[in-house]
Amino acid sequence: MAGKRVIIKDDRVPAVLRRHPWVLSSSVMMVESGVGHGDVVDVVTKDGQFLARGIYNKKSRIRVRLYTWDENELLDRDFWRARIVRAVELREQLGYLDPEGACRLVFSEGDALSGLIVDRYGPYLVFQPTAFGLAERLSTFTEIFKEILGPKGILVRKDPAASAAEGFELPEGVLFGEVPEVVTIVEHGIRHRVDLRKGQKTGFYLDQRENRLAAARYLAGRRILDLYCYTGGFSLTAAIRGQARSIEAVDSSDRALQLAREVSSDHGIANIVFLEAEVFPLLEKYVAEGRKFEGVILDPPRFASRRGQIAQALRAYHFVNRLAVSLLEPGGILVSCSCSGRVSRAEFMQVLFGVAEKTGRTIQVLEQRGAAPDHPVNVFCPETDYLKCFICRVI
Ligand code: SAH
Repeated sequence: MAGKRVIIKDDRVPAVLRRHPWVLSSSVMMVESGVGHGDVVDVVTKDGQFLARGIYNKKSRIRVRLYTWDENELLDRDFWRARIVRAVELREQLGYLDPEGACRLVFSEGDALSGLIVDRYGPYLVFQPTAFGLAERLSTFTEIFKEILGPKGILVRKDPAASAAEGFELPEGVLFGEVPEVVTIVEHGIRHRVDLRKGQKTGFYLDQRENRLAAARYLAGRRILDLYCYTGGFSLTAAIRGQARSIEAVDSSDRALQLAREVSSDHGIANIVFLEAEVFPLLEKYVAEGRKFEGVILDPPRFASRRGQIAQALRAYHFVNRLAVSLLEPGGILVSCSCSGRVSRAEFMQVLFGVAEKTGRTIQVLEQRGAAPDHPVNVFCPETDYLKCFICRVI
């Protein structure tokens, strides 16, 4: 069954066979006539040998997103359904489908569904398509999820950077059923409040789930500073599950802090103070004042989203980590995260090396963690290994 075809340059054929799901425009030798924007295409060698099948996007640098390397698989409804079922089965196996919980059901390339994110918050789903080809198929995905999970409502959220890169418009809103403004979900026994429509990402940083509990284990009885706290995920877990002594939690988003304060008061917590501030100047002020803490959590926003920003991002990571280390008492715990996929684990380790050198402190890395397992890393696609969370003791 010869489909519409995109011919790949000879020297790029091995990359396609290595199953990275992106075919960049620079890898394309020729697009056969008749191939239209959004079409399913076969990616072939110049001799016509089948390599993979995907969806063509004439507007994006990622010219074809690949979904199968098996010529017999068609990208039809059954195919998408099987991929989604395979993804949902993993979350079931992880024990992540408890009715009141939240998890990522589909993690784009991590689940061989390049360009689709689906998050579950209790009985509500949020779709966040980052590829034009899959944004076009949202009604199919809605039907499939209705069949397999029976959600009460499905919301669609736009990722503005991805929509711009892929050249598509996406109306946000409810695709099916009803979705409340704020949803309560339970994680590690804590009833978090999530703003699905206006919150960051799809409302909650689901990728930090296991790291919050891991960090809490080290923070018992300690005075903690939680920088970039968002709705308080790390702080609330440290207070409730880790029995931290006192916590100062900082973020620049007043809306996120408002939700954090509500959850804190729901749980009768009196030892967390949520503070609206910019982190860099606050850190400089605290260092100047000689303030000390027994634990610092650092979970900054992505400092590098493009290759050209890596050097600058490394400097920013060095800066915040250096000041954070300066605030730590000897024996203090540093939980340091980076969600910049462009910054590798080795480079992040190098940042900590530089910080230890500069401050004269000893940094022992106790755990090198990544995203929770509902964000599986696709070995063919290193970009899926984006989150680093290092738990360290600083002497
Ligand atoms: N640790 C959080 C997630 C942090 S995401 C959790 O577990 O849920 C990064 C956070 O940094 C966002 O909440 C964002 O509002 C905040 N932020 C971004 N720039 C900031 C700045 N300059 N100062 C303070 N907070 C900032």
